Amino acid sequence: MISRALTAAGLAVTLLSGCAVNPVTGKQELSLISQGQEVALGEKQYPITQQQQGGEYVVDKSLQDYVSRVGQKLARVSDQPQLPYEFVVLNNGTPNAWALPGGKIAVNRGLLTLLEDEAELAAVLGHEIVHAAARHSAAAMSQQQVLGAGLAVLGAATQSTGYGDLVSLGGQLGGSAYIARHGRGDELEADKYGMRYMAAAGYNPQGAVELQRKFVKLSEGSQSGGLAALFASHPPSQARVDANIAHAKKLSSGGATNRAAYQQAIAQLKRDADAYATYDKALAAVKEKQYDRALNLTRQAQRQQPREAAFFQLEGDLLAQKEQYQAAHGAYDKAVQKNPGLFSHWLKRGLMSAQLNNYTDAERDLTRSMRYLETPHAHYFLGQVYEKQGNVQTAYGHYQTAAKAGGEIGTKAQARMQALGNKG
Ligand SMILES: [Zn+2]
Repeated sequence: MISRALTAAGLAVTLLSGCAVNPVTGKQELSLISQGQEVALGEKQYPITQQQQGGEYVVDKSLQDYVSRVGQKLARVSDQPQLPYEFVVLNNGTPNAWALPGGKIAVNRGLLTLLEDEAELAAVLGHEIVHAAARHSAAAMSQQQVLGAGLAVLGAATQSTGYGDLVSLGGQLGGSAYIARHGRGDELEADKYGMRYMAAAGYNPQGAVELQRKFVKLSEGSQSGGLAALFASHPPSQARVDANIAHAKKLSSGGATNRAAYQQAIAQLKRDADAYATYDKALAAVKEKQYDRALNLTRQAQRQQPREAAFFQLEGDLLAQKEQYQAAHGAYDKAVQKNPGLFSHWLKRGLMSAQLNNYTDAERDLTRSMRYLETPHAHYFLGQVYEKQGNVQTAYGHYQTAAKAGGEIGTKAQARMQALGNKG
């Protein structure tokens, strides 16, 4: 959705930076922002987008290294090897992958379990590398969109503010999925040059053909929400399969598929398939408001894989919903210990401490959550903590920030500001 004002702003920027050569195709193209700006945007947005989508997958950290190695091998033979490429596996069951400007790339665990070998993984990563190297995002994503993410977006999508409403809060915090939308032309270009990178890095480019065949087959079957989301950004078609077959014919077909290495790398994910399936059923039960069933299911998932923090976070949400705050605090405590790198574990444990009138612990946890992701929730509840402690001025500042996010929490923050203002 492009507003008139945004278009005018875009034109002004275009006049400044003008035309640029596409580093992959060599064609002259309009460029809205400089490559330096793109790299800076990607660097800033990468950790934020990761946090909003489940954070890093940490149950098997060796999988991160493996995916990075494959990605860097391809990046080195790309048309822009000097970009600060990074690759991360996200703890997200939706089969998706994306690239931010400047070479910041993510692939969800939900996509990795659908792939057969390293050549197919190379097809996914090579495709995303082209999006970054050819600067597709500079055209597809307005600067406004990139800069606007974070606090404001999270605020707008969020309706819930009560301590007891963490179930719905959980869904909103995790649900604001970023899905890059590229045009058909960019998609074909990403396939074509991605296959060249595959061949140059020693992979059999046939992997890109197999990948698209798989997607066509999956899209013909019953589409779950996750698959539908993937195909909205990467529409599968026989035409795309055919185009990839034609490209493969022009490239050396002798490359590696490394099936054994790939299967070894995702072995833990495969062993945990039942645990994540149980967790997905629990999430579905939450949507149906079957909270007891959801609680049983997430506890079953915990028994299947005790190291997955998400299973304990959901248990905490469901206990908080039952107003069992002490038990909910205990569940969040486990989530924090199993994965201290995700903002929501700290945020929710902090909310429970506030609910249990332990303001020192609440302040520490809410503040810590903002190191990972700044949310209007952390600001609003920090406001409450400081207000309870009699620190009205600091409380007011946090309410002010929360109010800027708008939505229900913004309105509540505004009400508190008014109440405090009237007192003084
Ligand atoms: Zn794409």
